[in-house]
Order: sequence, then structure tokens, then C-alpha cells
Amino acid sequence: MATGVHPVTDEPNLTIRNISTLVTMEPTMGHGKLGILHGATIHASGGTISSIETAEDVRLLPDARRSGSAGAEIDATGLIAIPGLVNAHHHLYQSILRGLGANEDLVGWFQARAPFLERYTSTARFHAVRLSLLECIGSGVTTVFEFASNTRNQGDVEQTLRAAEQLPVRMVLGYQPPPGDPPSLASVITLCGDHPAIERLFCIPGAVIPERNDDAQFARFTSLVEQARRDGLGIATHALEHRKERDNGSLRVLQDVGALGPDTVLAHCIHLMPSDIEVLARTNTRAVYNPMSNMRLGSGIMPLSKLHEAHICVALGSDGATADSGDFFSAMRSGIGLQRALHQTPEVCSYERILRMATIEGAEALGLSEKIGSIAVGKCADLVLIDPNAANFACGIDPVAQVVFSAQPRNVHTVILRGKPVLRNGAVMHIDADEIVAGAAQAAQQIAGSL
Ligand SMILES: [Zn+2]
Repeated sequence: MATGVHPVTDEPNLTIRNISTLVTMEPTMGHGKLGILHGATIHASGGTISSIETAEDVRLLPDARRSGSAGAEIDATGLIAIPGLVNAHHHLYQSILRGLGANEDLVGWFQARAPFLERYTSTARFHAVRLSLLECIGSGVTTVFEFASNTRNQGDVEQTLRAAEQLPVRMVLGYQPPPGDPPSLASVITLCGDHPAIERLFCIPGAVIPERNDDAQFARFTSLVEQARRDGLGIATHALEHRKERDNGSLRVLQDVGALGPDTVLAHCIHLMPSDIEVLARTNTRAVYNPMSNMRLGSGIMPLSKLHEAHICVALGSDGATADSGDFFSAMRSGIGLQRALHQTPEVCSYERILRMATIEGAEALGLSEKIGSIAVGKCADLVLIDPNAANFACGIDPVAQVVFSAQPRNVHTVILRGKPVLRNGAVMHIDADEIVAGAAQAAQQIAGSL
């Protein structure tokens, strides 16, 4: 099958029947903190959830309505349904660097990466982004934040958008204008405009927070924050990932230039002082926990329970090649595991909380919770059906806990985006996955061969 452009269109009607376990993330529905229903049926129309019927509702329906409706149908008997997962921090363009600098810390990894980045082309970026998006779908991720640092020219942006057009995932694009060169922030705003694959645009005023005595970087960062605020864009950067950033007063820098607030997403937030947590809470700034990358680089562990105690919205992310994988089940599992091991108690992070971080709290962090992140009438029909009938998952006691502790991408049975199945029986639809992998491998070889 040829890899064609995947049109982002809405399926007129879709019914998902007999969902054995439906995890809505809406505590007002069903039972428990996650709003769980059994035997439910979901109807979607025009990409939006139009009704959710419980098993009891379905039992009371007249036979004619129970047995059929217009549009596509999926029988979800034996399956678990969760909202589409939200990966709030990724570098999709880095997938062809997986495995690089595997024994390095963050600084060593930057050094290992430099010669590869110098040889990156827009075509390489296209293949890398496509490969990552393919992995996202297979991992049940329906919304991803692309932290597009190291963008060099308009071609890089265009190729990122081209990749996003081909793979059915909602992309939130974080764009870092390169110093002195086009494309400017204004031209990227125009490019993204009403682009069907781009959910929101964020500005990255700098990949890291500048030091106050670095006049040039500080001025540039400040100017981009002002521009982003004027244009109504969100702001994203990395914050306190490396221990050297502790005590730099980084968050005060962000506060002074007006970069904090509910439209700002800070990745990592590991080396926070108590005063930093107060600043984040006071400004309602959002943070993203990236456990797989933090483990791999030995960067440290986010003080998640302290952030939660301060009622700070924390999303879950994978990060890019420093996580080596966009498997979001691994992100949940390592995220909960790091916290429990650090504090020597499971009480610091429940499986329910990490599931919320991977769905509704991720949506809140990205300003999208009105549309996605939970399964509710009126929200977008972005859902994942998980099949527990596999060697790594079967015969469990608590299937919802096992979504965190047992699930792997191979258990992803169906992914529905905007009411339309985009992955069925474990295979991404209308996409030649082999061609995507081969294209990325060729791009990686070209770069490696030119070193
Ligand atoms: Zn990152």
C-alpha cells in the first residue's frame, strides 16, 4: 500500500458497543475516581461523543435501537476503553537519534547530538517526525506536544506539518524561532493558521531559561515572550532539568519577564526549590513530568508529590531521543515507579493519578481540556481500546490498574481519533508502516554516513 496523505476528516457516526470496562476520567460518571462504567455503549457523531449509555440504559432500549444504528460499529466486548492519551512533551524530530549517547548525562548527550544535528535536513526531520507519530498511535497517544527546538528554516516547519498531515494524531506545536533567520514567529503562525493537524501553537522563547547575565539571550527570550503573549500563543521551555540550574533563580527570571501563567508549560521541573513550587502554584503554571528521559540521563526525579500538594497541574511526557521510546505505557509505569521508589511508599502516586496525568491533566496543561482528555458527551471522540487478552495482561484482578502496570503498545487494539478508527486490531490504518520505518532508517543512515 502506498503511503498516502491521511485526510483529517470526521466519521459521520460511530458506535462502540459492550465496552467491558470504560474509564471515562469523569468522576461524576460511573464509580471511583476515574468514573468507570461496565458494559457501556458510546455513540459518536461528526467526531464528537453524542451519547454514553450504561449497560442498564442499553438493557432498557427497544430491540430495534439496541441492535443497530447508522454508521460504523465496533464490538468492544472484552476490551477496556480509555481516553486517547496525551503526551505533553516530545521531540518527535529526534526519533532517528534513539540510542545516541546512551551512557551520557544531559550535557554529554548534547555533545553527542551536535554533529548529528549539524547534518539534519528538512527531509530527515520529516521522516523522524513521521516515525514518532507512528509510534504515538501504536501507543494509544492521540495528542502530542512537539517541542520543535533546533528548527533552522521554513522547510523544517513545512516538513513537520507535512508529516503531521500524514499521521492521524493531534499535534500541539511548540516552535522555537532560530536566531536571526526566517521563519519568524509571525510566518509560522500563518503557516499553522487553520492547519487541520495543528491543535495549538506554542512559542519556545528558548530551549532553556536564559541566565540573567547573558544579555543577548535574555533580551531575545524576553522579546519572544512578549510577542507570544501579544499573539495569544502558549509558552513552553525546559526548566530545571539539570542540577546546575538549581539556585540559578531560573523561575524568577521567567516570572520577571511575564513568562509564567496557565498558558505556560515547563518540561522537567526536577531541581525545584520550595520557593519555585510556590511561584508555580501562585501563577498556575503547568509542569510536565518526563520520567523515562530523567531516568536515562540520571537527571533526577521531579518532586511530584510536592507539586500535587501545591495543586499544580502536572502532565506526563516522554521527551525525545533521551527517552529512546515514545511508549506511553512505559512512561506511566516508570513515572509511578520512580516516585514510589524515591519515597519508599506507594502512597505518593496512585495508578489513578498517573492515568489522569496521561489524559485529562495533560489536556488541562495544554489548554485542551474542553475538547479532549476524558470521555464525556460533547467532547471529541478520541478513545483507545485495549485488549487485555494477551500473555502480558490476561487474567488480571484489576484491569484499570493493569493499564498502568501491565499494558504495552501491543495491547492497543483500536485507536479512535475524532470519531474515526485510525488503528484497528493493532495495525495503523491507511498507512504503510514499513515505508515509514524504512524512510526514517534511510534518513538516519544518511546522517550517520556523512559524519
Ligand atoms: Zn525535552
